[in-house]
Amino acid sequence: MLTESHGALVREVLIHGPIARRDLSRRLGLSPSSLTRLAQPFVERGLFVEVEDAATGAVGRPIRPLDISPGLGSFVGIKVTGDAIFAVLTDARARTIAEAQIQLMDHSPAAVVSQLAQIVATLQSSDAPPLVGVGVSLGGLVDGGRVIRAPFLEWVGVDLGGELAENCGLPVVVENDVVALVEAERWFGAGRGRSGFSVITIGAGIGYGLVVGGESVHTREAGVGLGGHIPLDPTGPLCPEGHRGCSSALITSVGMCAQLQSALGRPVDYDEVLALAAAGHPAAVAVVDAAAAGLGRMISLAANLTMQPTVVLAGEGLGLWKLAEPRIRSAAAADRDALADAVEILIDDAGFGAWARGAAAIAIQAAVARLGAGD
Ligand SMILES: [Zn+2]
Repeated sequence: MLTESHGALVREVLIHGPIARRDLSRRLGLSPSSLTRLAQPFVERGLFVEVEDAATGAVGRPIRPLDISPGLGSFVGIKVTGDAIFAVLTDARARTIAEAQIQLMDHSPAAVVSQLAQIVATLQSSDAPPLVGVGVSLGGLVDGGRVIRAPFLEWVGVDLGGELAENCGLPVVVENDVVALVEAERWFGAGRGRSGFSVITIGAGIGYGLVVGGESVHTREAGVGLGGHIPLDPTGPLCPEGHRGCSSALITSVGMCAQLQSALGRPVDYDEVLALAAAGHPAAVAVVDAAAAGLGRMISLAANLTMQPTVVLAGEGLGLWKLAEPRIRSAAAADRDALADAVEILIDDAGFGAWARGAAAIAIQAAVARLGAGD
């Protein structure tokens, strides 16, 4: 039977492997004999391997650290946005073997499932080891394999996991995209090796995630999008929900375009907002300045309220950072106490590939835990 302890064991070995049993016991708070009992089925089923290590333990025996078996198979991780599907084929360590990307033609669940199955089939046909599982991430609230709400797809109550699993004949895990990205940052991304940090994603929406004590904070509310309407500027523009100067109104590409559009009286896209600001166009400069100040405030809020001074910044809206880094840094510093550590801002500009690898990481964890527990 799959338990929380199985899940924790799998995450530790995936993230830190090869890892000595002694270190694993300490990290999981288990006695050596409890660890042996917990890990034994994973070793017997060939999911974990004991690797040779030149170092020896205190009594002269080889340490033989535990690691995930490289022969476990391959995985597909997919990030779905409102416009496109980004997918990666990875090995059991979430290392990318192949990538694929297609435009989303239609938001209806049947059409999206069909396109997802198509991209899985495309990646499956390469020379990689057999596919073991699929992870799908999207912006929205997810419960099990079911999408409760996904605004960018205009979905309410869609059994994406069940329908895709039936369509492609593989186990499918569905997760909120920021939750999956946080997993990627913690495992192999900008946050690797740090026990705590926030993740803020900027783009069409605002995403927020948190790692504390080496574990990502994953509650039922993680996919609700609670970072999306944080008040940042009492004199700022209104968001569609009527909040003045909230994070959506100030920092998202949609909010920035809407502001400049109303100043210029014509439609503009995000790249044009940044290009006009770079060229010194006053209205565009004002929009970018307000966004930079708002993002700096959001970064310092994340650091202040979580007491984790590291913030990883990611998302397709990183053009704002490239254009206005000094303004963002000074705004973030202005809201910090002099006795607090300086905010450390780490940039993940790996694009949607990192989001897709995060989805693969979720699928790998689920598969190893499921197989190890004999389910
Ligand atoms: Zn709002």
